[in-house]
Amino acid sequence: MALTRSVLDALERIVGPDGVVSTPEGRLVYECDMHTFYKGAPDVVALPGSTEQVEAIVRLCRRERVPIVPRGSGTGLIGGAMAAAGGVMVGMNRMDRILEVDLPNRCATVEPGLINLWLTKAVQDRGYFFAPDPSSQMVSSIGGNVSTNAGGPHCLKYGITVNHVLGLEVVTGAGERVQLGGTVVDRPGYDVLGVTVGAEGTFGLVTAITVRLLHVPEAVKTVLASFTSIERASEAVSGIIAAGIIPAALEMLDELMIQAIEAGIGAGYPKGAAAVLLIELDGPTAEVDSQAERAAAICRERGALDVRVARDDAERALLWKGRKEAAGAVGRLAPTYLLQDAVVPRSKLPAIMREVLAIGERHRVQIANVFHAGDGNLHPLILYDDRRPGELERAKAANEELLRACIAMGGTVTGEHGVGIDKAKNLPLQYGEADLNFMYRLRGVFDPDRLMNPGKLLPSHPACSEGFRPARPHLPEGAWI
Ligand SMILES: Cc1cc2nc3c(=O)[nH]c(=O)nc-3n(C[C@H](O)[C@H](O)[C@H](O)COP(=O)(O)OP(=O)(O)OC[C@H]3O[C@@H](n4cnc5c(N)ncnc54)[C@H](O)[C@@H]3O)c2cc1C
Repeated sequence: MALTRSVLDALERIVGPDGVVSTPEGRLVYECDMHTFYKGAPDVVALPGSTEQVEAIVRLCRRERVPIVPRGSGTGLIGGAMAAAGGVMVGMNRMDRILEVDLPNRCATVEPGLINLWLTKAVQDRGYFFAPDPSSQMVSSIGGNVSTNAGGPHCLKYGITVNHVLGLEVVTGAGERVQLGGTVVDRPGYDVLGVTVGAEGTFGLVTAITVRLLHVPEAVKTVLASFTSIERASEAVSGIIAAGIIPAALEMLDELMIQAIEAGIGAGYPKGAAAVLLIELDGPTAEVDSQAERAAAICRERGALDVRVARDDAERALLWKGRKEAAGAVGRLAPTYLLQDAVVPRSKLPAIMREVLAIGERHRVQIANVFHAGDGNLHPLILYDDRRPGELERAKAANEELLRACIAMGGTVTGEHGVGIDKAKNLPLQYGEADLNFMYRLRGVFDPDRLMNPGKLLPSHPACSEGFRPARPHLPEGAWI
């Protein structure tokens, strides 16, 4: 679909000439998110600076029946912020102000383009922080975090993004500006806020967000435990949780990942270990001290090679730098990887890790693991070099088998990254026909013309005549539209 000159002119009138990107090279920058398999450049990118401009863009697109694709920082890993059907991409980065910090009510209202970490930086001197901490938090936007319902290492104790969103302003696909939730607890009526968090831009554009702020804990301790096998480390995870300890974060990294991180970052992880656990405890000093001792003792009982506590903030920061930059460090092992995001019940961790090893061997691919062990949220990185014939195919087969293994163990098709275009086809593995039809109808309430982020989140469904079917031929095999 090529947009007419009159639509481009109308967009320029709304956001100003410097708020429109329409050159081929400019649009190319927006053709994919961090899942670079799925490519679809928008016909034009609009960069609004206010909710009024967002409303005007939606009105224009509805009148012209043009698809709308919201985009935050484009760090998504599921092919969400790409234009599967062309249309207008709405980049929210210019709307990045902190509108209000309300410490008596422990909340803040921000625009969607605000980078996650900037909010904590703005309030930490006053003793507060914003808890959701995806590893991309130095670049991903809070609007993107809300729309994917992002998780992160510290979500084990503090909960995922939805647990920290109190209110939203949304311009729906129907062009209405609605206020959902607010600072008062126990609001009457349906929890529309709840269904909107994680809607991946299929309901509308989030234009303001009120989030919870938490007190910085009195004490923090980070424990690093190394093991001779992934299974032993997995058993220690189960042991810690079974003992009633809820660490702020409980992350696992395997041998391959440790090698990559040590070569790239030098975070101080023991190189010979088959797995390490990064266990962070926070809260009142006395509680943290005793929980750290108990967690360390459980690790030793499960055969840990070594257990050490970070001596100071600098060592703690370095241990976390290694974890948060793990995905980049993997570039030392292979030029490309497929990143899976699936969940199993925590008790199944030892079994699924055995299966991950077996799948890697069966398909002759290396799999590096770094994941939120406390949540049972796996992130196997399946390494391949697409210059070598057959490697990509083997990686894809391993990826698919892994997902099915997680489902067979009672898990889910996606953890924290969302569905996007990548996993829409997998949803029927988890939901029945009635469930999917219900979701289609719900989407239609917000977006009756099916213009919002077409092709994302819901699969094509034979029983539903309303599924959006744009006629773009350039999508990869297996992608649903
Ligand atoms: C190195 C790395 C580490 C990561 N670690 C984590 C992690 O620990 N946990 C985790 O959950 N994710 C992680 N991610 C994935 C990604 O960072 C998150 O999904 C993040 O929430 C996306 O934010 P974004 O601003 O980049 O959104 P985008 O990628 O731009 O968009 C994501 C989706 O939200 C929609 N959207 C964006 N803004 C709006 C808006 N204002 N209104 C409506 N819809 C909107 C888009 O259409 C798209 O469907 C990681 C990614 C990378 C590259």
